[in-house]
Amino acid sequence: MAGAIPQLDDPLPYFSPPVPWQTVSWQEWNNWKWQMRNRIKSINDIKKISEITEEDEEIFRAVLEKFHMSITPYYFSLINFNDPNDPIKLQSIPSYEEISYEQDASEDPLYEEIHMPVPGLTHRYPDRVLLVVTNICATYCRHCTRKREWKYGEYIKPRNILEKAFEYISKHNKIRDVIISGGDPFTLATPSLEYILSNLRKISHIEIIRIGTRVPVTLPQRITDELTNMLEKYSPIWVNTHFNHPNEITPEAAKACDKIIKAGCPINNQAVLLKGINDSVEIQKKLNTSLLKIKVRPYYLFHCDAVKGTLHFCTNVRKGIEIIEGLRGHISGLAIPNYVIDVPGGLGKVPLQPTYLISMTEEAVVLRNYQGMIARFEDNKHTAHPQIQREGVAGVANGSLPTLIPLAVKSTKKRINNYSHLRKIR
Ligand SMILES: *Cc1c(COP(=O)(O)O)cnc(C)c1O
Ligand code: SF4
Repeated sequence: MAGAIPQLDDPLPYFSPPVPWQTVSWQEWNNWKWQMRNRIKSINDIKKISEITEEDEEIFRAVLEKFHMSITPYYFSLINFNDPNDPIKLQSIPSYEEISYEQDASEDPLYEEIHMPVPGLTHRYPDRVLLVVTNICATYCRHCTRKREWKYGEYIKPRNILEKAFEYISKHNKIRDVIISGGDPFTLATPSLEYILSNLRKISHIEIIRIGTRVPVTLPQRITDELTNMLEKYSPIWVNTHFNHPNEITPEAAKACDKIIKAGCPINNQAVLLKGINDSVEIQKKLNTSLLKIKVRPYYLFHCDAVKGTLHFCTNVRKGIEIIEGLRGHISGLAIPNYVIDVPGGLGKVPLQPTYLISMTEEAVVLRNYQGMIARFEDNKHTAHPQIQREGVAGVANGSLPTLIPLAVKSTKKRINNYSHLRKIR
């Protein structure tokens, strides 16, 4: 059955319909190079699995001309083709929307290329830089924010350009954090990645190295002992990955993350808020609590950047706020990512959250909790304050009311009994 989550000890092959690799051995399947070589890139591969009308085929070809496709057999096997809104399908199989509303969107709204002192190196924040080392990914995400890079085919940055980046970084001693990104740095051969890490480690002011990779999600087979043994040598390395949906958290992905963590690299997740894929409180709850179970810490939830070819995935900001509102207080704080917008024009990331600070006076702030209870928090209780208005938020602000509690909150009664000072407001 396509879409079944494979078990690690399953005999091969664990699914039946995927025709192109029907005879694959389990050993090959677990070999990341086999997965890379056998990526699904053409419409003919898709046609073997899913019925496509002639009209759809034409559209498909038109999209592929603009934005290529490449899906690892592993990631492809997670798709449930019976579900037209399958989240893995929507992230990996091209759709007409990518070219349909030809979007006056920019290819590079974040001005990453304008802030490049050296090709491939973005220096936007004082103490950290972003270094793009390749544009190759195991699977190309339809919502990719660097889709502009796809028109160059697949490249690995040559060493003479990388050397310029190392030189720039070594001359700027305020830089303490290098983010190796792409494309996907883990698609490089291990020695090529080691070349980059070892050169960065020669620079004494570099404290940490981050690697941004989606390989744990789309090609977990890549996390080999050879790779993790190499990573261990260049500690501290922090890995940032990109799970967007609970269906991506498979036994393979869990094992890959475990190996990275055992090599001493903490993993953080940078999800993107995508319309029709993960834009609900329920899915985000499941995603982020499931990530904690595989010891991956939710770090960012990115508002989808308005990049040419991805506009159909963008939600409005209200949706992002609604999601954080639905998470904070309801699930472990560890499972709550920072919702951020990368502001166009290269202004950088801005965190957004629901408003919990309702009012502020000289002596106190008025806070709202996740259930809507409103309370006064005294900044300085020794300052006298005039008590003018006795009702509503203003009453809480000036201290005539200690707390405002919506009647709908189930635990209201218990709280009132527990806190005698609340009795006077009944
Ligand atoms: C996101 C980003 C960083 C890293 O930001 P953090 O908030 O430290 O994770 C650095 N440089 C650029 C250009 C970025 O877009
Ligand atoms: S893995 Fe990252 S860089 Fe690669 S296609 Fe997906 S979003 Fe873009």
